[in-house]
Parts: sequence; C-alpha cells; structure tokens
Amino acid sequence: MRLSRYFLPVLKETPSEAQIASHRLMLRAGMIKQASAGIYSWLPLGFKVLRKLENIVHEEQIRAGHVPMLMPTLQSADLWRESGRYDAYGPEMLRIRDRQDRDMLYGPTNEEMITDIFRSHVNSYKDLPLTLYHIQWKFRDEIRPRFGVMRGREFFMKDGYNFDLTKEDALHAYNRHLVSYLRTYERMGLQAIPMRADSGPIGGDDTHEFLVLAETGESEVFYDSQITELTFGDREIDYNSVEQCQAVMEEFTSRYARTDETHDEAVFAEVPEERRRVARGIEVGQIFYFGTKYSDAMGATVQGPDGKPVAVHMGSHGIGVSRLVGAIIEANHDDKGIIWPEGVTPFHVGIVNLKAGDAEADAACDALYNAFTAKGLDPLLDDTNERAGGKFATMDLIGLPWRITVGPRGLKNGVVEVTSRRTGESEEMSPEAAIEKITAIYAAV
Ligand code: ATP
Ligand code: MG
Repeated sequence: MRLSRYFLPVLKETPSEAQIASHRLMLRAGMIKQASAGIYSWLPLGFKVLRKLENIVHEEQIRAGHVPMLMPTLQSADLWRESGRYDAYGPEMLRIRDRQDRDMLYGPTNEEMITDIFRSHVNSYKDLPLTLYHIQWKFRDEIRPRFGVMRGREFFMKDGYNFDLTKEDALHAYNRHLVSYLRTYERMGLQAIPMRADSGPIGGDDTHEFLVLAETGESEVFYDSQITELTFGDREIDYNSVEQCQAVMEEFTSRYARTDETHDEAVFAEVPEERRRVARGIEVGQIFYFGTKYSDAMGATVQGPDGKPVAVHMGSHGIGVSRLVGAIIEANHDDKGIIWPEGVTPFHVGIVNLKAGDAEADAACDALYNAFTAKGLDPLLDDTNERAGGKFATMDLIGLPWRITVGPRGLKNGVVEVTSRRTGESEEMSPEAAIEKITAIYAAV
C-alpha cells in the first residue's frame, strides 16, 4: 500500500477521553473511530489487525478439528425463554422488538442458538464428537463501556461449542480448547495465562480464563510466578490424543493462578513467598465445561449406543478477538507508539522515502516495494511529501516492526537503513540485503 492512496487519519493530539495506552494509541494511529459509546468503526489500519487476529483464530481452531460456521447477530427471544436465560440475563442484553411485535435480541453469546441447531440435525451418538464455532459480533449493553475496544458494547468474539456423548469426551474437548488457545495467543505474541475462574451467567463447574498480565487490566489476579516461565512453543500436538492434551492442560494449570473470584488465601499461602504474585490482567478468553445444562433445558439428546436418548455434554469457549487488539497494544508499546509483534502487524515493513519526487529515491522505493510484494509481504510505502520527522513519527506511532529508510545520501553509497521498531537499532545495508533480512524474519513467524 502507498500511504498517499491509503486512509490513515493519524491524530497529532492525545485524545482526552482515552484513559489507557491502547485506547489512546488506537485513536491516534487512526485504527478506530467511536461511533457511539462502546461501539466503534474499524478504520483500515485497525481492520487489518482485526482480520489478522481473526485468521489466526480460524487457523488454530481448524487445526484443533473444530468446524467453522456463522450464526446471525439477531436472535429470537423464544430460544432464550427455553433455557430460562431471557429473564436471567439482565439489562446487559439488548432487547429489540420487530414490526410483527416479536421479541428479538442482539446476541451476547450463542449457547441457545447452537443447541437449537444441534437438536434439529444431530440424532445419533455416531455423529459425535462435534465442535462448532463462529466468529461474530456480539452485543452486551455494558454499564460502563470504556478503554476503547477492550470493554465495548459491540465486540467481535470467537465462540465455540462442543457436543460430546460423555463427560470424559467433553473434558477432552475442554483440554483441546485449552491447547489451541495457548497456541493462538502465542502466535499473537502474547502470554495469556490460564487461571481458574468463576462461571458467571454461562453456568457450569469447570472453567479457566486466559489473562494477559497488564497494569491496566480490569481483573485482579493471584499466581505463582513459575507459571510465567511456561511456553507452548513449537511443539507438535495430536489433538486427537486424550493423553497429550491432558498433559498440556495439567502442565499449564497445576500452579496456582486464579482470578479474584476464585482466589483462596489459604491455598495461595502454600506457594513459596518469593513466587507469590498479585497483579492485574486482561481477560482475553475463557473456556467452560457445563455438562448437560443446555441440552437438558432444550432437549438436545442423541440416540446412545444402547438406543436410549442421552443428553449431550457441552462446553463453550470464547476468545475476545476485538479486545485482543487492545490487549496486544497494552503489552507492546512505548511512549512513541505501538510495537506490533510480527505475527499480527498490519503491514510487514514500512518504507520511508526521505525525498519523494527524487527520481533515484522513488525508483529505489518502488523496487523495494515490488520485491516485498512479490515475496508475499505487505509493505507500506510512505511516498508523501511530509518532512522526514513527521514520517518517522507516524511510522513509530503505527508500530510496524521494521522500517526501511531510503534517501539520496545513502543511495549514493548503495545503502538503505533498516530499523527495528522494538530495539530502535538501525543498520545500513544494500537494498537486496534488506529484502533478504526482512523476508527471512517473516518466514520464521
Ligand atoms: P468480562 O468479565 O470482561 O465482562 P466475560 O467473562 O463476561 O467478560 P465471556 O462471556 O467469557 O466474557 O466472553 C468471552 C470473551 O469475550 C472474554 O474473555 C473477553 O475477551 C471478550 N469480551 C467479553 N466482554 C467484552 C466486551 N464488553 N468488550 C470486548 N470484549 C469482551
Ligand atoms: Mg469470561
């Protein structure tokens, strides 16, 4: 993309309504614009990151054997009356009436709708196990929407639902989700720690929340510092293997890590004092096993091996895709702006032309641009007439991990300058070497 043709409405001033870094930086970098309280338009740069996160979530869900689909945002109230949640959900649910006077709602989650789909089409235990998921906008009329996309009213969420014949199978689905979530967050450059949590209005017994440690997080968390040393890394896992998934679950949940809702001082006291941490975190996902709660209420049964109907065991599993954009920025920024991890950056490399209009500089920039594009990378070329300082400030603000600076002086010596956004270190090299270096970095992501 050429900046002169793009839509990147960066703000010079710090917006006064934004209380935390990610919200400030998303507004300043022209990623979002508030449409009304807790509801945002995703401008091109923000939309690119949101799509990248969505793609990572899809890839990791499909890798785990889960099946993508799409359910609507508007739902019929009748389904929610069946489960009893129409009244139980409270004012967070946006209730709507259509012209036929039918009660509708903007879905805050989809347990009822997916259970209805399941009971309409699945009759036999032979069709299990089954895990369906979608990534769709949700609406919750939060009492205090704040921190930009972190606590919106409309937000983008992956929600997946497993259907299993037995509790053991459903717990395998739970573990499979835990593993796939660990992989998902690591690909986004984040450490998200599974912590024992409370199940809230979804209901159920087994549940973990995934938290990214950050001072601005809304949850208070208590953990054994050893847990921050764990990484999933590039290990291979067979998602069909009950033992392998169980082993990862045990490895990542055996140390003390809880949110304030389930925190227990007496158990925490058993952690050696020097490893006890009290901190804040951002909830970026949650997994639940809730047994037959919805299948009982809504009659979702299958014919079991003995011919008798059995209520299916279910769980639901969410990832806050739009919140993650904010969470990644909270964990990756400095006073100049965002620092995108390579796995989610909106553009792979920024090319700054120090002298747009100079034939040689223009040609060198075009050559770099074409070479990166041919290699399947996505460069952003600043071909505008702004002065150098402004161009650097914009690049630092929008946080592309790599910048190539091209100017007549360097070109005389056959070099361009390659700068890492994270370390700030610059290196001069030939344009060919710059292409090779940056291509190699992304090949490893
Ligand atoms: P919270 O406790 O933050 O209100 P929740 O536990 O009610 O969230 P879940 O039902 O677990 O949310 O939804 C799954 C994921 O969706 C959450 O882990 C979170 O990342 C995201 N999410 C929930 N509410 C919001 C919101 N208002 N804005 C943005 N993302 C949200
Ligand atoms: Mg939750």
